[in-house]
Amino acid sequence: MGRNFDLQAAVVGGDTRQIAVAKALTGLFNTVKIFGHPPSDVPDPIKNCWDLKETLENARVVVLPISGMNDAGLVRGYNLDHYIDFGSCISSLAGGTLILTGSLTDKWIKLADSLQIKVFQYAEEDEIAILNSVPTAEGAVQIAMEELPITIHGSIVIVLGFGRVGTTVARIFKALGAKVIASARRPSVLARAWEMGCEKVLTSALPGIIQNANLIINTIPAMVINETLLQKVSKEALIIDLASPPGGTDFEAAKKLNIKAILAPGLPGKVAPVTSGLILSSAIPKLIEQILNGGGDH
Ligand code: NAP
Repeated sequence: MGRNFDLQAAVVGGDTRQIAVAKALTGLFNTVKIFGHPPSDVPDPIKNCWDLKETLENARVVVLPISGMNDAGLVRGYNLDHYIDFGSCISSLAGGTLILTGSLTDKWIKLADSLQIKVFQYAEEDEIAILNSVPTAEGAVQIAMEELPITIHGSIVIVLGFGRVGTTVARIFKALGAKVIASARRPSVLARAWEMGCEKVLTSALPGIIQNANLIINTIPAMVINETLLQKVSKEALIIDLASPPGGTDFEAAKKLNIKAILAPGLPGKVAPVTSGLILSSAIPKLIEQILNGGGDH
């Protein structure tokens, strides 16, 4: 891993993927503390802490999970219904501390800035986002198989958004024999979808084609499957919304119209915690090294 830093790192919250990250960081830092995990799951030499303040004491690098911290300052804990109040501890961090988090809202970025705390949001890093798209797409396959009474082979799947997740989703459903129609707002993006053997439709033209879909998979983090569009969706169709909460579907309207729509966040950690732990534990130490060594290019 290169040089060690004579510093302490703290890993806060998240699921088993954070333990993998903490383990990888022990090769970089002289002390790595972790908070919010069952002690029996924490291997040596990671130091398990019971108290968040103690965890953060003297930490110069703090790693939050890929789900980040929400606007209320809460970080997801080990169990889905358990949150850690990290926000109230930010002001106790020393100036110059580096926080690596999946994401952070503007309010907290401004506060960190005023405290001279550096923030790096890693969920948008291509190395992580592209690799994470694989377990995400496999999770979508799992949901589709569980929820649909028809095979994926031969079904019509419309994928909304053709970025990192959408491209992988389209590729995997196509490989399973679905007729995949990619939808994006830019013709240049749709040209790539066509090259991959998908059919293509501009987002604005979805109302003319959406009624044909057996399965609609949204990856666009904006309200695209609105009530007007939902009125055209077949009652037998399934919607899987992969975009980060609140997703891009009007779930109230879908319920009213009796269309099954599932918001499916955090699939990598649910369907492939080991693989997605490896993705994070290989990328995050490298990012930290680059940042601490003053590298601006990641
Ligand atoms: P991305 O690479 O930025 O792709 C986003 C796609 O959405 C692009 O095609 C983009 O088009 C399109 N888009 C954005 N805003 C739009 C709008 N207003 N109208 C039409 N199209 C729009 O993002 P990604 O990495 O694929 O991630 C997509 C979403 O999945 C994010 O919300 C991410 O957090 C989430 N995610 C979820 C999981 C999970 O487990 N469910 C896992 C990983 C990621 P342009 O290129 O034209 O901007």
